[in-house]
Amino acid sequence: MDHDIFLVWLNETDNLSPDQRAEASRILSGSPSLQAVVDLLEAKVREDRICPHCASEGAIIRGHASGLSRFFCKGCGKTFNALTGTPLARLRHKGRWAEFAASLRDGETVKVSAERCMVARTTAFRWRHRFLRAVTAGAIKLRGIVEADETFFLSSRKGERNLDRKARKRGGKAAKRGLSEEQVPVLVAADRSGTTISAVLPAVTAAHLQAVLQPLLDPDALLVTDGCTSYPPCAAAMGISHESLNQTAGQRVRGELHIQTVNSRHERLKTFLRRHRGIATKYLDSYLRWFQLAVIPKHQTPRAILAAAAGILPISRHA
Ligand SMILES: [Zn+2]
Repeated sequence: MDHDIFLVWLNETDNLSPDQRAEASRILSGSPSLQAVVDLLEAKVREDRICPHCASEGAIIRGHASGLSRFFCKGCGKTFNALTGTPLARLRHKGRWAEFAASLRDGETVKVSAERCMVARTTAFRWRHRFLRAVTAGAIKLRGIVEADETFFLSSRKGERNLDRKARKRGGKAAKRGLSEEQVPVLVAADRSGTTISAVLPAVTAAHLQAVLQPLLDPDALLVTDGCTSYPPCAAAMGISHESLNQTAGQRVRGELHIQTVNSRHERLKTFLRRHRGIATKYLDSYLRWFQLAVIPKHQTPRAILAAAAGILPISRHA
């Protein structure tokens, strides 16, 4: 931050309410306490007072339980707290969630994360899946020049019973080289502001590409891809402008057009996933959300990660 802007910002702190001052000081001290996390989670409920059971408004606060305000709904007579109906409901040790969010940001394995947060590995594993469940693409839009390209991951049915083939040791190689049923396609698309999305594709077809891209693409976007034949019919169906690069003929850049942003995202994604060896394919979506939420954005904060996990905020947009 520019020094002059910092001085203006500092002067603004004179206008903070006592509550805001206490929250700001907790954040500046670098360790968001349980209360900072609870404040974040409760702010929205306190404002809306909407019952998650029956959607009535006007719930009133009636006491506390497990460190959270208990709300009472006059409509249905049930009680709820800020986490009711979210993936974080009934998880314990809230005081360690901020540390766990930092662990997600750092892309840590279950083992490292469990040690850092002083919880059992089974707990760290459960937290990871719960935290990532609520994360959605939100209102993300890809604008301007939008690069899209697929990358492939080895399919793994680790942990599943009744394998119809011999189990492969983790980190194994596909029996067939190149594309085969054992390769899972993942679409990554990024615009030049750094906004990035990724999604598992059932197959690389125009229809599957359209299903992922259509809700995310600004109507005025220019889609840039390699020469894969599924993109032209996909772009035509969406009514989106499209340019393809003939990479097999050595055309990597044409004027402003290239797919280097998305290809560098592929490399980062592979590096990130390599750390968590032998990921079961059924969990790949969850890892992609993790990558988008916590790994791609620079300087992602534990607070923003917690908010996304509680379904309060969409994923931070910029890398
Ligand atoms: Zn109710």
